[in-house]
Amino acid sequence: MICENLEKIRKKIAHAARKSGRAPEEIKLLAVSKRMDTSKIEEAYKCGQLLFGENFIQEAREKISRLDNSISWHFTGHLQSNKAKTAVQLFQMIETVDRLKIAQALNRHAAGYDKSLDILVQINIGREEQKSGVDPQNVEQFMSKLGTLHNLNIRGLMIMPPFSPDPEKTRPYFRALKNLADQCQVQGYFAEDSPIVLSMGMTNDYTIAIEEGATLVRIGTAIFGKRT
Ligand SMILES: *Cc1c(COP(=O)(O)O)cnc(C)c1O
Repeated sequence: MICENLEKIRKKIAHAARKSGRAPEEIKLLAVSKRMDTSKIEEAYKCGQLLFGENFIQEAREKISRLDNSISWHFTGHLQSNKAKTAVQLFQMIETVDRLKIAQALNRHAAGYDKSLDILVQINIGREEQKSGVDPQNVEQFMSKLGTLHNLNIRGLMIMPPFSPDPEKTRPYFRALKNLADQCQVQGYFAEDSPIVLSMGMTNDYTIAIEEGATLVRIGTAIFGKRT
């Protein structure tokens, strides 16, 4: 079942890409495996899925230790400073950097391991009180502060937009993030050695996110089924 799901999703990704004049290879699929057993991750891995996302450090640590080390992992949950060291050990990318304190902790631990850590800045694009992310109005200021943290590569931006059952309602938020990323690029805030990452779009709305410029879609339910 997981293989069929992945196949279907890859086709839909390719279709949405071509529809908007983009190459399908520009878009990466992150399989969000939080609260899914390692057996399901293995199943997806056997079908060629090599990139997974986890939201909880403890859960991720256990799973990663049991799985093949050719898998790449992104952290997509809310990160606390006291978990920053473990996060640096486990993940190839942290997608949810939204506070200077977290960025500084990640930078310090990355330096300690003599490595360069890829990060995304999470934006609270709908300016929702209960959500994490940098307020769009404070992005410039935040980005310029990150610029002094030399062991972090700022690869792009990530959002969890306000939820709507109608994915068309989410389109303006995707478009707004693309605009924000373009502005940040002009300002020179992103690492320049690879294309800018726009992490947006989930099970319910990923094709629309791709039409609006997503380069990384984060999908859980459509691959693994409903989380319990
Ligand atoms: C759970 C989660 C997803 C996947 O959501 P689905 O609707 O199951 O595809 C994507 N991104 C983040 C940050 C998540 O926490």
